[in-house]
Order: sequence, then C-alpha cells, then structure tokens
Amino acid sequence: MKYICNLCKRTYAPDKTLWRCKCGGLFDLVDFDIRFDLEKIQSRSKDIWRYREALPFAQQFDGSSSVSLGEGGTPMVALSPDLPDIFVKLDFLMPTLSFKDRGAAVLITKAQELGAKFIVADSSGNAGTSIAAYANRAGMECEIYVPDRTSSKKIKQISAHGAKVCPVPGSREDTAKAAQEAVRKKEAFYASHVYNPFFYQGTKTYAYEIWEQLRKAPDVVVVPVGNGTLLLGAYYGFKELLEWGLINKMPRLLAVQAEGCAPIARAFDAMKDEAHPVVNTGTAAEGIAIADPPRSRQILAAVRETRGVVVTAPEAAIPDARITLAKKGFYVEPTTAATYAGFVEYVRKCTSGKLPVDQNLFPSNPFELNHHGTTVVIPLCGAGLKAD
Ligand SMILES: *Cc1c(COP(=O)(O)O)cnc(C)c1O
Ligand SMILES: [Zn+2]
Repeated sequence: MKYICNLCKRTYAPDKTLWRCKCGGLFDLVDFDIRFDLEKIQSRSKDIWRYREALPFAQQFDGSSSVSLGEGGTPMVALSPDLPDIFVKLDFLMPTLSFKDRGAAVLITKAQELGAKFIVADSSGNAGTSIAAYANRAGMECEIYVPDRTSSKKIKQISAHGAKVCPVPGSREDTAKAAQEAVRKKEAFYASHVYNPFFYQGTKTYAYEIWEQLRKAPDVVVVPVGNGTLLLGAYYGFKELLEWGLINKMPRLLAVQAEGCAPIARAFDAMKDEAHPVVNTGTAAEGIAIADPPRSRQILAAVRETRGVVVTAPEAAIPDARITLAKKGFYVEPTTAATYAGFVEYVRKCTSGKLPVDQNLFPSNPFELNHHGTTVVIPLCGAGLKAD
C-alpha cells in the first residue's frame, strides 16, 4: 500500500511524518487489494469493522487492534412515514455525534500502526472532536487547531476528550496553516481529514452501509461538501461496490454547499475542473464553510462522473430546515440543516420545469405523498446538541 501524489504521481511508503508530496501535491492511496467477504460481514457486529477486509490494513488484520468506539451501523429511516423514497441516514448518532468518526477510527488506527505518539489536526469543529476522542483512546497526545469563532460547545467537546485546543484567528485556511506549522516544528502525525487519504477509507463505509440497508444503490445520494471527505468516501465506496458487482449503477451525487461559501458550486456552474478560493461571506453552516478546498478537483470529477450536480443551500432557509427536521424527530446542527435546505431548494427547481433534463435528478417530486420513483438518501451528519 502506497501514497501516490495526485500531481506528479511519485509514490511513497506511508510514514508517520509524511503528509504531502515534495511537489506540494496531495496523496491518494494505491496498491491495495481489498474486498470484503459477503458471508463474513453478515455474522459480525454492525460497526465499520465488519468490512475490515476492505479497509486499508494488512491481510492478517482482524480488527482487534483497531481504535474503535463502536462507530458505524447508523440507522437509515424514511424522512417521514408518508415519504418512503426519501431516506435519512442518522450519522449524528456516532460516538462523537458526527460522521467524522468513520474516518477518524481508520486514520487513528493507522497512526497507531505507524507508531505515532503525537497527533495534530485542524478542523472547523467536528473532525477535531473526533480525532481528539480516538487519539486519546489510543493513548496519544493531541493538539487540535480550530478557527477562534468555532461553536463553544465543539471546543468544550474537543478539550473534554483530552486534547489541547488551539484557537486561531482569521480564516479556516489560517487554522490549517497554523496546524501545519506545528506539525513541522514538533514532528507530529498530521491527522488531517483533508490531506490524509486513510480518512476517506473510513468514510467509504457510509456507502457500504447504505447498500446493505437498501439492498441496492439509491438513485441519488445527497452529500454536504466543505472539504469533501464524506463525498469522496461515498464515491469510493459505491465505486468499489460497482466493481465487485454488488450494485449495478452509481448513484448520482447531489452535493450541497452553503450559499455564503460555495467555491465548488461556482466551479461546477462555470464548468471548471478546479475551484478558485472564494471569500466566506458568512454562513450558519460552519461545518461546510471551506473557502479553498484542497481536493476540489477530485470532488468535481467525482460529481461529474456520476452525472450529479452541485447546489447551494439558501442561507435564509437554514433555520427553518432545522425546525422542520426537528419536528420529524431529528435534532441536527445548522450545517446538517443546510444539507436538507439545499436538497429542498433543488427539488423545487427540478419540479419548476426550469432545469435542463440532464441536470434534473428529480423528474417527479419526491415530496408528493406516496411517490414511488427516485430513491434518495440524505445524511444527517451532525447532532443538534453541538450548536446553540
Ligand atoms: C465535516 C462536516 C461536514 C462536511 O464535510 P466535508 O468533509 O468538509 O465535506 C458536513 N456536516 C457536518 C456535520 C460535518 O461535521
Ligand atoms: Zn508530487
């Protein structure tokens, strides 16, 4: 198993201090032969480790050395009883209350295998919380860099898990720079959900679970996008299922950004291969407010390959979306309400007859009672108790 630079294609053996190519490119993973065993997974507990043969560890890995809090196996239920084709997957029911635990469990297990003792990460909140919890469980020292305006509840959660919280003034990108500087100075393991490709090997279990729960691929998978860690994970996961013949088509990806910070949506609309940095003009969706996402090229390529679209959530619709979801029984944080608001807004466009056919993922309205047609899965990624 090797890191490969996505610019110059140079390869490296994974190592505890390496996180970016000499040329500045980002790493992907190559050369690992993986596939889970259909029979074996049936008899195992419902966490991400049931798919362990498909996770990036040695053949003899039996899961016993994993750094785990029982993450994965989240319920998937109908949005409401009269809407049987719109599913929500409750990833906010994870150990640290967000989907990031899928990635953090795999990444910290790998860090442990590589002998890492000191962990640094940067995050807008939830990834840092998750890394802090797993690093502490593995007995590692941990520092988490966050923008200084991060929700106070997320900051408390990170420090409660035993990490040192380092608030950084300025943009989300300034926070990343501060973390990278600390990694360099302290020779730390950079447990970045953005740069470290092992994180995506954890988030791909999101796709595996949807397939197991639906017994097929849904038509459309909605995903919030900031840095794209769930989007790319879902894409890799479904792609593997397709290669293994377990599904017969890729779901179309409906990526949602926040109106106030939407570099990927802009690049998608302008038919560009890569996003240009934008200025974050403010959004309640702090978890997806990424002005300069390093993996924009991969995100855009994945969406286009599935004949998907990138849309934005109207800022004004976020508070109402949060109330709507809570009334259906799902108390989520504003970033997750934004995902839902983006979906609702996009369905409205589809049914208004104004979209070109190739961009219309919902030719018939999924909100019509007893609709039977397009199956869609929406992730509810972060818990309501994380925010005010
Ligand atoms: C991290 C996060 C996102 C966005 O994920 P990216 O990997 O940045 O695309 C969305 N919602 C919640 C609740 C998150 O924690
Ligand atoms: Zn390179």
